[in-house]
Amino acid sequence: MTNESVIRSTSQAWKFYAFNILSLMSVFVIVVAAVYFPTSKWQTTFLSIFGGLLACIGFFIALSIQCPKCQSRWWKLSLNKPVSSRAHAKLMSMKACPCCDFPQNKSA
Ligand SMILES: [Zn+2]
Repeated sequence: MTNESVIRSTSQAWKFYAFNILSLMSVFVIVVAAVYFPTSKWQTTFLSIFGGLLACIGFFIALSIQCPKCQSRWWKLSLNKPVSSRAHAKLMSMKACPCCDFPQNKSA
């Protein structure tokens, strides 16, 4: 039994960080569009679409965080639980898959 979080041991932590970075970037881009180009229609439209695109890419990267054994999507599972501000912290410190207990029963 390892003490390492299962997301790190399956090399999927980068997906979680990418999701956070892309989410922040999308908010930043949309705010920049609203603040710096309030009267320019095409720049605001372009930057809003770009911001939305970043958020979509981040969403699909986060959705691809999955169990290598049972393919359950851990990020989605963490959101399905009762809303908690620590849902993402719990996801990152998760020691085993909530569905199949991977990697605890790997040798079983
Ligand atoms: Zn699993």
